[in-house]
Amino acid sequence: MKLAMLGSGSRGNATYLETDDTRLLVDAGFSGRQLASRLERLGVDPDSIDALLVTHEHGDHTRGAGIFARRHGTPVYLTSGTRAATATLFRGTERVVEYAVGHPFHIGSFRVEPFLTVHDAVDPVAVTLTSSHCGTRVGVATDLGRPTAGVRHALAGCHFLILEANHDEGLLRAGPYPASVQQRIASSHGHLSNHAAARFLAELLHPGLAGVLLAHLSAECNAPDRAMEVVGKVLRDAKWEGWLGVADQEAPTELLDLLRLRRTSGQAGQLSLL
Ligand SMILES: [Zn+2]
Ligand SMILES: [Zn+2]
Repeated sequence: MKLAMLGSGSRGNATYLETDDTRLLVDAGFSGRQLASRLERLGVDPDSIDALLVTHEHGDHTRGAGIFARRHGTPVYLTSGTRAATATLFRGTERVVEYAVGHPFHIGSFRVEPFLTVHDAVDPVAVTLTSSHCGTRVGVATDLGRPTAGVRHALAGCHFLILEANHDEGLLRAGPYPASVQQRIASSHGHLSNHAAARFLAELLHPGLAGVLLAHLSAECNAPDRAMEVVGKVLRDAKWEGWLGVADQEAPTELLDLLRLRRTSGQAGQLSLL
């Protein structure tokens, strides 16, 4: 399985995943044009995407969903609550497939397991995706109010995690947001801070976890090196030796080969970026 984030942050999120025979997007929070050009930068033809999976209705996850689906003939998977909340994005010509939390389903060679989060959206979910070819299991969890027991359970045992590290507590307090917005971000229905992400990752560590990509960083209240430093320290202290990276708002990450990462992780500092 290979994976790249096309971009991540409060101005847009989208994750690309592929197996030998299936290509998926999780969320489409950029314009249709941006989604296509970022895929092309990775050498992926937008027309070859088999499905677009939407996690919740917020614009930074859905902005280009309708236009991308129409332009490239891509089926859109979402829950009924999210479908109702994003009705204005669709014209009725798209192929829409509804899924429900607690009911895993397959898209090509991916097994998709959606689970509930406590984010401030109508019907917010995060997902794990497992390749039936190599067994690699990935968790994509970018908008988590807090790690509930259900979220912990769902993300346990993943080989690769995309996890939000939204804000730095100190920068959030000192930043430009009014108190009400600060409260919303830091609340249990908002986003995980760097420290909260680090604590949660420490709980999720297991020998098979080969890599972690920190995502959904706030442009105003976080910085990539700050997030890497806070999370990296906790993971280093726990003697973890996997791959750690940060997703950027403006450009796609490299296309990560997860099977290769799994084979080489833990080999004395070989891949550790900490
Ligand atoms: Zn959101
Ligand atoms: Zn978001």
